[in-house]
Amino acid sequence: MASIALQGVGKTYPGKEAQYILRDVGFTIEDGEFVVLVGPSGCGKSTLLRMIAGLEEISAGEISIAGVRVNDTPPAKRGLAMVFQSYALYAHMSVFENIAFGLKLARVPKAEIKASVQSVAKMLQMEHLLERRPPQLSGGQRQRVAIGRAIVRKPRAFLFDEPLSNLDAALRADMRVEIARLHQQLGATMVYVTHDQVEAMTLADRIVVLGPSGVQQIGAPMHLYDKPANVFVAGFIGSPRMNLAPGTLDAGGQLRLGAACLPWRPPSGAPSQLTVGIRPEHLQADPDGAIEGEVLLVERLGAESYVHLMVAGLDKALMVVVQDEPPAAGARWRVGPVAGRVHVFDQDGRRIEAAALENKAIAGSAGLSEVA
Ligand code: ADP
Ligand code: MG
Repeated sequence: MASIALQGVGKTYPGKEAQYILRDVGFTIEDGEFVVLVGPSGCGKSTLLRMIAGLEEISAGEISIAGVRVNDTPPAKRGLAMVFQSYALYAHMSVFENIAFGLKLARVPKAEIKASVQSVAKMLQMEHLLERRPPQLSGGQRQRVAIGRAIVRKPRAFLFDEPLSNLDAALRADMRVEIARLHQQLGATMVYVTHDQVEAMTLADRIVVLGPSGVQQIGAPMHLYDKPANVFVAGFIGSPRMNLAPGTLDAGGQLRLGAACLPWRPPSGAPSQLTVGIRPEHLQADPDGAIEGEVLLVERLGAESYVHLMVAGLDKALMVVVQDEPPAAGARWRVGPVAGRVHVFDQDGRRIEAAALENKAIAGSAGLSEVA
């Protein structure tokens, strides 16, 4: 297995030099690490993965694998295996032949091929499918063959491009677990592209969030969830989506959202026009809560409910996740944010960290429970 390092990587297409699809992308995927590249459709995820694979030329920067620059190394010599959303299987070959194909090309002895294919088939629980052809397989089984074909080559790293996007929701959840187990079992370096933030959160050691203007934030899943660096990441990571609404800092240094005063201590120099973010699961029913509104709609999901709360002064209803019996539509209802779970961003969308506890003791006016 191997590490993969990107340095100042950029991509433009010929004739569109003024328009970089990706600009100055730099990060290192450690040996054995599972890194997920996540972002909305069209932000350049596949392009970046294809540049790592060598299927797409890079316009700027450097890519190295295991410490060796590979800018000019053809794909076949990079020792990477790629798994695509489209499976890319040979329909006229059996599952066995599909998995064995790369080894055959590499002139691996027959007995060895057989043993390798069998061991991979066992790992992926498809020993009974080896004689079938891809058209006789379900979508999940086909994707497993494609993964088997990658594993059998013992690559230095695996590259996945939206491998589960063609599967239905239940199967996607199953395959997600299989891929996670595969990573544990193989200890392999994996780079995984998806637009699905749930896949990113559950699979990744580290997530690279890509947005319209390149890399937005890199970090462990829970770090991105707890401390999103900007509004884009805040809105992208987490499901249901974070509530984001314009707020203000009044003359007394109090954070206001509509009529509500929120517990958040501004650092010195904080601007007065802000964006406030609170996750639906971090708003709680509370008779003394800071936020009061009218229940617009309740969505019952079984284990929990989503309550849409219309608050005076806000353009959009706030969403609140409720585990207990939700309030009725039309009711007046009060909620408050969980301590420390109010996010604040400046007008350029950048996170503003709340002032530290020490400053608070000096200010002295508010209780400890108000520290955000
Ligand atoms: P993602 O995988 O994140 O959905 P892609 O990497 O496929 O995004 O595409 C990123 C951007 O690059 C898109 O805006 C796409 O239109 C553009 N693009 C892809 N291939 C070409 C090409 N050959 N010429 C010009 N633009 C391209
Ligand atoms: Mg893509």
